[in-house]
Amino acid sequence: MVAHPGRGPESAPGGRLARALDLYEFQGKELFRRYGIPVSEGRVATSPTNARAAAEELGGPVVVKAQVLTGGRGKAGGIKLAETPADVEARAGEILGMDIRGHTVRKVLIERASDIEREYYLSIAFDRSAKQPLLMFTTQGGVDIEEVAASSPDALVRLHVDPLEGCHPWHARRLVYGAGIEDPAEQKQIAAIVAKLYEAFVGREAMLCEINPLIVTPEGEVRALDAKFTVDDNALFRHPDIAEMRDVDAADPLEALAREKDVTYVKLDGDVGVLGNGAGLTMATVDVVTFVGGRPADFCDLGGGGDAQGVVAALEVIVRDPQVRSIYFNIFGGITRCDEVARGILQALERMGIEHPIVVRLDGTNAEEGRRLLEEAGAANVHTQATMLDGARRAVELAAG
Ligand code: GDP
Ligand code: MN
Repeated sequence: MVAHPGRGPESAPGGRLARALDLYEFQGKELFRRYGIPVSEGRVATSPTNARAAAEELGGPVVVKAQVLTGGRGKAGGIKLAETPADVEARAGEILGMDIRGHTVRKVLIERASDIEREYYLSIAFDRSAKQPLLMFTTQGGVDIEEVAASSPDALVRLHVDPLEGCHPWHARRLVYGAGIEDPAEQKQIAAIVAKLYEAFVGREAMLCEINPLIVTPEGEVRALDAKFTVDDNALFRHPDIAEMRDVDAADPLEALAREKDVTYVKLDGDVGVLGNGAGLTMATVDVVTFVGGRPADFCDLGGGGDAQGVVAALEVIVRDPQVRSIYFNIFGGITRCDEVARGILQALERMGIEHPIVVRLDGTNAEEGRRLLEEAGAANVHTQATMLDGARRAVELAAG
């Protein structure tokens, strides 16, 4: 996870990690437009007839794009080109109501279609380890950036920006030359977009601004075809226009995120994040937390597997709940191995920089090994407890403290 430049995650109100609020593509593009980043003209529609009217207004071929808070919409069939208004109505009918990795499509963006010559990638994210914004640019856009980073790391140009110094033309020059852009007109347009994207990133206190793809049209025009804009929840009071963009009609966004990550999760409204393995034990854990005077924030079942990957995914969902103040892991190892769970916790701590106090009770298969791993890692916010009841007491105490 990333935090805002100039403020450590620990300086967020309440001493907690900055929380991410993802905006829809159409909202991200609206912000891009305000900062002068070129985007296609478009309209949002919530019904096929709406979509048709939007297409008539725009004229010519358009693209119908599912508005959901998850990537890879193209691959999932959530993005379709359409030639005529009747065609748009039909495509919108197919896309609206579609389920894209746990997210129901309730809105579509109708956009004037672009001709694409090339697809690039440009982003600014806050790099936690360097405590600086990180610019990334590659001419291999349109695909998942993790793929590019893995398969051809040399094609990805990475450059930090000193937040006190700001973003200067030399940053952009280094990105475009580093990626091998030779056309001067293209270099100039990309450099301008880099500067504006940085302005948007700082101006809106973003955690991530990503354009994938950043396209070049056959006429040589550079434009943002997609927008991923993630802002810091804790800064929203300074940006009422963005606060208004927060989705109120989407079903619980945490539950949608959980579905996407294959995590069994039910949101409750307390402050102790509960994680167990197996439905029975997890329910018992919710009860014990309540019994010792606490309020569970969720029911989250790791299932029988409980491998490190699953633990990371579950923690990702739990810490996105702004009410969570402590986390209680109650694991009884059977098929689930306690050392795997411990590895998952440590991986999650490393990857996300979780600062919530975490109480861990491990029993059963490889419990000792698991406790040893946790102790050796020496994370100050991880507390092991021997029994279920003591674990619950500790977690409740820490949530209050
Ligand atoms: P994502 O799959 O969720 O990242 O959605 P994108 O907005 O990035 O779109 C995915 C892909 O759809 C793009 O990489 C393009 O190849 C294609 N696409 C989107 N808009 C247009 C358009 O206006 N014209 C054309 N020809 N293709 C488009
Ligand atoms: Mn994209």
